[in-house]
Amino acid sequence: MKIQEADAKSLLLAQGLPVPPWIVARTPAEVEAAAGTFLDKGAIKVVVKAQVLVGGRGKAGGVKLASSAAEAREVGSKILGMDIKGITVKKVLIGAAADIVKEYYLGAIIDRGSRRITLMASAEGGVEIEEVARQNPGAIHRVSADPLLGLLAFQARALGLAIGLRDPLLNPFVTIALGLYATMKANDADLVEVNPLAIVAETASDGSSTQRLVCLDAKITLDDSGLARHPGLEALRDLDEEDPTDAQARKLGINFIHLDGTIGCMVNGAGLAMTTMDLVKRYGGEPANFLDVGGGARRDTVAGAMELILADPKVEAILVNIFGGITRGDEVAAGLIEARAQQTRDVPMVVRIVGTNAAEAARLLKEASFETATSLDAAAEKAVALSKGAAR
Ligand code: GDP
Ligand code: MN
Repeated sequence: MKIQEADAKSLLLAQGLPVPPWIVARTPAEVEAAAGTFLDKGAIKVVVKAQVLVGGRGKAGGVKLASSAAEAREVGSKILGMDIKGITVKKVLIGAAADIVKEYYLGAIIDRGSRRITLMASAEGGVEIEEVARQNPGAIHRVSADPLLGLLAFQARALGLAIGLRDPLLNPFVTIALGLYATMKANDADLVEVNPLAIVAETASDGSSTQRLVCLDAKITLDDSGLARHPGLEALRDLDEEDPTDAQARKLGINFIHLDGTIGCMVNGAGLAMTTMDLVKRYGGEPANFLDVGGGARRDTVAGAMELILADPKVEAILVNIFGGITRGDEVAAGLIEARAQQTRDVPMVVRIVGTNAAEAARLLKEASFETATSLDAAAEKAVALSKGAAR
């Protein structure tokens, strides 16, 4: 689950990281008021930032500075409603504009190769890290945390040194790096990214200027499977931006992942679903989705799953592969019949149901003139052939 910058910043703050204050606004009037608050406190400029769950907002025109509350309102009214990578901006973050001296990248991820939390840092901050990885992979430095010992201060220091940080900013960097690691652990996050981690210049009331490191941007993705352990984090899900298909799947309790192919798959069990996808590929097709209806799926779940598959206009054929255990074959068959009666688009379908109540399922499907198969190979082959027929 991705969360918005403002929420990510709250999670960083909770671990004691240096994040400048902010206010979230949904209307130009709110933007003006928020900007006034920061300007009254002595800010020379304010920054107005689109809150959308995609990167590269700056480049897309979603991050702007303003020198007065009226100008902030104007900028805010342009950003609110703006389309960034297909998402309409519904809220913005306002803060005192930082006087940036230099931008760094700092991120924590779960590295599946080493099965450890890995911290990545680069002196080429501000730009997307994928871009740096492509253009100048040597500019990205990494350290991996021992699962038992955690990230150790000397590792964080080595990372800071590698990106060119020295006293007096090295120790603050170590604290921030350890804080990113703590944020990963505390929230079961998959990714915690601060880009830019910036050196900013700050002028005190006596006119003296100091430099410090602050987290100017924050991006966090949470492990969906870990959410059960953090009931409070569920509230951070941004329903404004959730894909309606994903929302529907979550409501039905179905595991659904959209893919690029043309063959819709409805399967029970994650392992069987993956095997089914492999076989679709073996017979020359491409799966349109991964879908695990779960154990004991009832007819309404099956009908709901069918709706999800058919919502994808690319789907040209559907392969249903159910191994009845707790799930009853006849219940699934009834769900399929019900779904077909309601569906608005006619897509060829092959059904394979084995196991519990398979005979009853077969009878129901035959009565309803469904195309069936008994072996998985035959079912996959047929579905691929039907999709090619449909494409022609
Ligand atoms: P992103 O483009 O979605 O990653 O949004 P960021 O929050 O990282 O902002 C993009 C860029 O805008 C940053 O890399 C900075 O160069 C600039 N920026 C963001 N906040 C400020 C600020 O407070 N002051 C100044 N001067 N620039 C900022
Ligand atoms: Mn950024």
